[in-house]
Amino acid sequence: VKSVVLLSGGMDSALCLALEVQAHGAAEVCALGIHYGARHNGRELEAARAVARFYEVEFVGPWSLGFIAHTWRGSLVNETGSLSGPDTVVPYRNAVLLSLAVGYAASVGASRVVIGCNADDAETYPDCREVFLRAADLAALVGTEGRVGVYFPLVGLIKRQIAIRGAELGVPWGLTYSCYAGDVEPCGVCGACYERNRAFAGEQLAAESRGRLVQLTGVSEREEAHG
Ligand SMILES: [Zn+2]
Repeated sequence: VKSVVLLSGGMDSALCLALEVQAHGAAEVCALGIHYGARHNGRELEAARAVARFYEVEFVGPWSLGFIAHTWRGSLVNETGSLSGPDTVVPYRNAVLLSLAVGYAASVGASRVVIGCNADDAETYPDCREVFLRAADLAALVGTEGRVGVYFPLVGLIKRQIAIRGAELGVPWGLTYSCYAGDVEPCGVCGACYERNRAFAGEQLAAESRGRLVQLTGVSEREEAHG
């Protein structure tokens, strides 16, 4: 295996997986699922497995970091706080996930670790910003004597561009899951639902992403709920 994709079950990592499979072939790619104790991780990881199955890549995990729940700050890993904005930050989460993925990649001889951070994430999450990801890449390269690098192909794209690119590539958006609340039906109002609905608003993209996994409400309604 050449490439380890951190696959959450959401849109961004699904597009990363599609890009890696396109570039290297399914046999050279594996998907790594990590449960970091967030309330939506269970359902997300079910989606991740489905996406991995769709692309016929090996699914590694899910590895459980359940101890993060209730001991770290952040509304995703506690039952309190808002499910949008700064409350949803799980401090340094991507450094933790990337460290595990890089260690695993080095141990199985893979040279690439891929993470789906995008330009919208960068506003809220410091560990999704390009400067952090470059530092993580440097740390991986130094810490593995140049054997493993960190790749972040979506860092310049906003969610809308990801939705469009994925639709062009035939990414099975209906298999992905994005809601922070973690219920079967997406809540429609959390930060993740807001971003997803905004990405798919209008056009035929909405129809392609529907199914049980996306809840389409009116744009004005969403803006109100978010603001
Ligand atoms: Zn939601």
